[in-house]
Amino acid sequence: ETMINQIAAGEVIERPASVVKELVENALDAGAGRVEVATAGGGLNLIRVSDDGSGIPQPELELAISRHCTSKLTDDIHDIRSLGFRGEALPSIGSVSRLTIRSRTANADSAAEISIDGGSVSSVRPAAANRGTSVEVRDLFFATPARLKFMKGERAEATAIGDVVKRIAIAFPAVRFTLSGPDRTTMELPATDDTPEGRLARVAQVMGKEFPQNSIAIDAVREGVQLSGHVSIPSYSRANALQQYAYVNGRPVRDKLIASAIRGAYADVLPRDRHAVTVLFLTLDPATVDVNVHPAKADVRFRDPGLVRGLIVGAIREALAKAGL
Ligand code: ADP
Ligand code: MG
Repeated sequence: ETMINQIAAGEVIERPASVVKELVENALDAGAGRVEVATAGGGLNLIRVSDDGSGIPQPELELAISRHCTSKLTDDIHDIRSLGFRGEALPSIGSVSRLTIRSRTANADSAAEISIDGGSVSSVRPAAANRGTSVEVRDLFFATPARLKFMKGERAEATAIGDVVKRIAIAFPAVRFTLSGPDRTTMELPATDDTPEGRLARVAQVMGKEFPQNSIAIDAVREGVQLSGHVSIPSYSRANALQQYAYVNGRPVRDKLIASAIRGAYADVLPRDRHAVTVLFLTLDPATVDVNVHPAKADVRFRDPGLVRGLIVGAIREALAKAGL
């Protein structure tokens, strides 16, 4: 069982940032209004994600760290409203680290916690905590030294963690996020709200307050596929594509087709080595897109890639032209 979980971990948990992604998604699935991420040693020594969400009832703590136990499965695989649904993350992480979950539901008298250390599970113990859940992951990959050797160093892992939090935070403007290292808070994103203004305010928190003034709004529909967001004016470009954020039905994705469509849209106004800064939200019938190609869930497969590409290229070019750019 530990072996199977470690193999699954190899698929889903590539690096500390993957742990952060899974734990933050769980917090959001639990309806959190506040998510706090604390790390040390680029996440290899410590990752702690705390939320004020629904909590886990004490009798279910043991289930939460069992393989393929999820409280989120629906009959329709396309109707995945929540971010997680495989019931794989916690047991996988617990098989390669020392993991403790402490949780308390709204009507429980007290909190409880359980630990899993390189795959071996403790009994449930009473604990002290407010409503919500806190998951602490220490010594990531101590149980798989070969994986540990592949880590790029503290700085690079910390940067990747920051990037994951930013990507998710843009999709959840009504949630407050904080990210802190061992001795200071590195990111603080107060809650805004889920209106166009609130979403743009969150984007500005993440991308910098100059971004709104240096971008134009995108809002287009083609054959039932909707595209909205903001893209930079040509003078506000970057040397790398790190500041390109894309969402499909509210989920952060990293997709080659979307990236290439953006490149195509700017081909005439940006030199080849410059990149636009973009935040794009695609909304389409969930039956026409597969967002679960890989367990790490960042790739997408569109049923009609040409339609999506055409929509992105067309909408951006049109908006740039309209703005006289
Ligand atoms: P999944 O998210 O795919 O269901 P996970 O292994 O990530 O699988 O989590 C297992 C289960 O543990 C979840 O289905 C949920 O019931 C519970 N859980 C995990 N994290 C939290 C959290 N932060 N708040 C409430 N419940 C949680
Ligand atoms: Mg999950």
